[in-house]
Amino acid sequence: MTLDQKIDDRQKSLDPQDWTALKQLGHRMVDDMLDLLQQIEDGPVWQPMPAAERDFFTTPVPRQPQGEEAAYEDFLEHVLPYRMGNIHPRFWGWVMGNGIPYAMLAEMLASGMNSNLGGGQHAAVYVENQVLDWFKDLLGYPQQASGLLTSGGSMANLVGLTVARNQRAGFDLRAQGLRGSEADLIVYASNQVHSSVHKAVELLGLGRQALREIAVDREYAIDLQALRHAIHEDRAAGRRPLCVVGNAGTTNTGAFDDLQALADLCDQENLWFHVDGAFGGLAALVPEMKPRLRGMERAHSLAFDLHKWVYMPFEVGCVFVRDEEDHRRAFSLTPDYLEHTSRGPASGAAWFSDYGPQLTRGFRALKVWMTLKAYGSQVFAEQIEKNIHQARRLAELVDQEAELERLAPVPLNIVCFRYRPDDWEGETLDELNEELLLRLQESGAALPSYTKINGHYALRVCITNYRTREQDLELLIEKVLELGRELVGEMD
Ligand SMILES: *Cc1c(COP(=O)(O)O)cnc(C)c1O
Repeated sequence: MTLDQKIDDRQKSLDPQDWTALKQLGHRMVDDMLDLLQQIEDGPVWQPMPAAERDFFTTPVPRQPQGEEAAYEDFLEHVLPYRMGNIHPRFWGWVMGNGIPYAMLAEMLASGMNSNLGGGQHAAVYVENQVLDWFKDLLGYPQQASGLLTSGGSMANLVGLTVARNQRAGFDLRAQGLRGSEADLIVYASNQVHSSVHKAVELLGLGRQALREIAVDREYAIDLQALRHAIHEDRAAGRRPLCVVGNAGTTNTGAFDDLQALADLCDQENLWFHVDGAFGGLAALVPEMKPRLRGMERAHSLAFDLHKWVYMPFEVGCVFVRDEEDHRRAFSLTPDYLEHTSRGPASGAAWFSDYGPQLTRGFRALKVWMTLKAYGSQVFAEQIEKNIHQARRLAELVDQEAELERLAPVPLNIVCFRYRPDDWEGETLDELNEELLLRLQESGAALPSYTKINGHYALRVCITNYRTREQDLELLIEKVLELGRELVGEMD
């Protein structure tokens, strides 16, 4: 082979040898996945991976090609059957959306275009900006705010809190780092706040001790008195209160802090107000829930997810910052090789890379944009409302059963409960429920997760699932009762 031939061969090498064959295979992939989704309820929610299957993933680097079709067969046999399960109507673990079939196709198109959303002058940038504007409108957040689609709520919280830290530190934090001041910078949130806020505080160099975890009331909302007291105490001790994080829907129970009161307090105390509305913020789409979210629009920064209660395929979250200048000042850094021009592909007013830590960014906006256009925003309001009503229905079903005990109020879409036979308590009761949950999950019938409520082990059902139907909830109750009775027989 001559050098020319070799180079020519390499130039072609990652396009298919045979375009017609790849098109056929691509069509088959789409058909297979849509077939699976169409019949998803027939299979188990989740199934354990046998040891032999896990060993499949220990083979060495495939130095020789096995071919497109064979690699796809491996996916069908060894990957697809052992999925997380959140595409199933009876998956209610943690907080996870289903993914929408149409959005999956949009994702493929975005991947085909392979646009870089760092910035520049191309249509994808306009798509992302339009998606941001639509969600400002839907959530009632000021239109002049800046924003960014992120990998999820964790990154959205990190971006919001970075802006908060830099804006309120009282010195040039970007230049001097935390060495620039003696002041202890303090962040406040309820003790129900999501772990991603702890992580953000750690990553921002403030130290875990800089997060004051404030007590909650019986509804699991932040105790405003205690919060005010903590702020004053810190000030008196010479520390510098920075920011309050309000919860719009906590992960444990779906509780809302009084966001209006928090916004007032932040005004009075001159603190940054960040809202973590990862899933609960989206309840603003539902008219009956709107009053619970009053004050969210006053946040200096707002984080929420689109891959939870907007059901988009992972990953996509969003952050808004009320004052665009604050936002840009926290992240903008333009080296020579990224100088923006006035014409051509490197032009464009605002570059997303000036609003977050990432330079290269994927086209995650397309799935959101196309799905909203295809189905309209109203359908999301309806599905979210349906999930809220389903949680209330499940709470009723739990309350009707003498053997079941509900462990928390149900303000949103989360129901925490346990199986509790007569006069069982303490550790044995926790053990029973833990084993019950594992058996339930391993049976493939349904997949709740767990949490601790006032120290008690609780089965936790979080419905961010547009495929769930009422009969799925009834089946859950039946299964829990059946497994509970079985375990009482074994453990007694
Ligand atoms: C899920 C969640 C997060 C984190 O979002 P990710 O998308 O998982 O990164 C933050 N806050 C709350 C309340 C959440 O439920």
